[in-house]
Amino acid sequence: MQLNISNLNKTYDNGVKALDNIDLTISTGMFGLLGPNGAGKSTMMRTIATLQDPDEGTILLDDLDIRESPIELRKVLGYLPQEFGVYPNISAVELLNYFATLKGISSKKERGEMVKYLLEITNLMDARKKSVSSYSGGMKQRFGIAQMLLNNPKLIIVDEPTAGLDPAERRRFLNVLREIGSDHIVIFSTHIVEDVQELCNDMAIMNQGKILLRSSPLDAVSDLGGHIWTKVISKEEVESATGTYQVLSTSYNPDNSLNLRVYADHQPDGFNTATAELQDVYFTYLNGFKS
Ligand code: ADP
Ligand code: MG
Repeated sequence: MQLNISNLNKTYDNGVKALDNIDLTISTGMFGLLGPNGAGKSTMMRTIATLQDPDEGTILLDDLDIRESPIELRKVLGYLPQEFGVYPNISAVELLNYFATLKGISSKKERGEMVKYLLEITNLMDARKKSVSSYSGGMKQRFGIAQMLLNNPKLIIVDEPTAGLDPAERRRFLNVLREIGSDHIVIFSTHIVEDVQELCNDMAIMNQGKILLRSSPLDAVSDLGGHIWTKVISKEEVESATGTYQVLSTSYNPDNSLNLRVYADHQPDGFNTATAELQDVYFTYLNGFKS
């Protein structure tokens, strides 16, 4: 299965160009859409989910033109929006049963098995009798996944699910996505590089409505090999370094010195060679050091 996006454009009424000539092909597996706030990720996801019209462009899911056939698309779509849903004061197991009935799964046995399976893979079995409205953010996100999977969707779109989750909840959520990723197209947006690193076999970096890089995380990291350099500097040296080098990041050491990471074709004086990481890829492309 393949999602083919071409020439996708969207300018909001306030003049913000949220999608600027996007061309993107996404295949089966876990695809990470990585970019800072305001990059255009949610706009792109709502557009693929047929909740919002672009100004221009074509989106094909295999042969299906989703702008011409939004109803067909929605039948195979699972979409978890960025905002948490507001849930009624009903237990998770009851609510899932209810949604399953709405989906037309009329056999009680079939419904029970389905609900059990979904509670298990989203790690909510122990909390199934608690009201969903009392769930933590991470539990609500996992419940959202369970609800979405009732449809048996082929195309799954999850918009910034880990934003606002604590580390343990984030880990549980990533594990749930890992379970479902293999035979669907899963498009997963995030501003957290580690999410993509841990989960995605394919990715794009997006900013200001444009795709800056389209690659697998592995290839992207290996392409930066030999271009990342590091040096320990003092706090006072940061400003001049920023003027002199293509700075990717600085991080503090316990003694208040800083590790400076820069992008350069050749080894700058006094720098050591560093092993490239996905974080370096992100900042290299966001800063336009490489295109
Ligand atoms: P992301 O999800 O990557 O944070 P969004 O798609 O939400 O990005 O937003 C992309 C840009 O479009 C931002 O500059 C945002 O302020 C703007 N934007 C989003 N929705 C609207 C809207 N309904 N009206 C006007 N501007 C919008
Ligand atoms: Mg967003």
